[in-house]
Amino acid sequence: MKIVTTVSELVDIINDWQKNNQTIGLVATMGYLHEGHQSLIKKSAEENDRTVVSIFVNPTQFAPNEDLTSYPRDLENDCRLAENSGASLIFAPSAEEMYPNGFNSYVEVVGITDLLEGKSRPTHFRGVTTVVSKLFHLTCPTRAYFGQKDAQQVAVISQMVCDLNFPVQIVVCPIVREADGLAKSSRNTYLSKKERQAALVLSQTLSLAEELIKTGEWRVAAVIQKMTDFINNEPLAQIDYIEIVDAKTLNMAESFTQPVLILLAVKINQTRLIDNLLLV
Ligand code: AMP
Repeated sequence: MKIVTTVSELVDIINDWQKNNQTIGLVATMGYLHEGHQSLIKKSAEENDRTVVSIFVNPTQFAPNEDLTSYPRDLENDCRLAENSGASLIFAPSAEEMYPNGFNSYVEVVGITDLLEGKSRPTHFRGVTTVVSKLFHLTCPTRAYFGQKDAQQVAVISQMVCDLNFPVQIVVCPIVREADGLAKSSRNTYLSKKERQAALVLSQTLSLAEELIKTGEWRVAAVIQKMTDFINNEPLAQIDYIEIVDAKTLNMAESFTQPVLILLAVKINQTRLIDNLLLV
């Protein structure tokens, strides 16, 4: 497995692969890899001749008050995990390599980026779509792998790929969880022992909602109220949002007759975590 940090080294390797008609899978990450990321890399390695893993804590998707500088980093361990999962190449650029002096172009999806995460983090998706566009242009992937963990991100990138005719297939992979239900996340590392226990409230609330709906609760507002009450019982948790939306449009769901996505963002003390459940 090769590790490159510059655009020119990356492009040379991609050109060689393309000359040999090799299929390319892309897994875009911010590093500090865990089994969630590894599941994407393994799937890509199964389905493509070559797999590129990008490791880049993308400054444009962080607001000034967010955790850009404290975001966990461990490139050496990431390289080991990526290689063990079947990666062919790591692209780990610096911020200056991706955004050199004079950089002045952005890619923006409107509409669905105003909701949910976009409401709490207004500049977030512009940063995501800009960096993912750059990575698509640089790596020319046949397929790109994203986690259902970031459900709205999947919807935003799918919209961008469709609208801007990126010749790439988007593959969505299921959420990988810890044994007790907590969705794996690089940000879980911020949690103290007590906070780690309190963070279980996210997955437990989703299970509660699933149970309520399966046993006949048909009122969306009633489900949201019970989820709210459940989270409010956890003293370390503060709700950012709980929403139940149409799985296709991400508009607020009015009933459970169509597939819905139940999404939440909750702060456990200072650590903001997200989770979701797709009910079809
Ligand atoms: P990140 O490094 O957080 O930007 O995540 C990189 C990719 O890994 C994104 O497509 C995420 O949705 C995906 N991912 C992160 N955590 C998980 C998880 N627990 N299960 C599945 N995919 C995940």
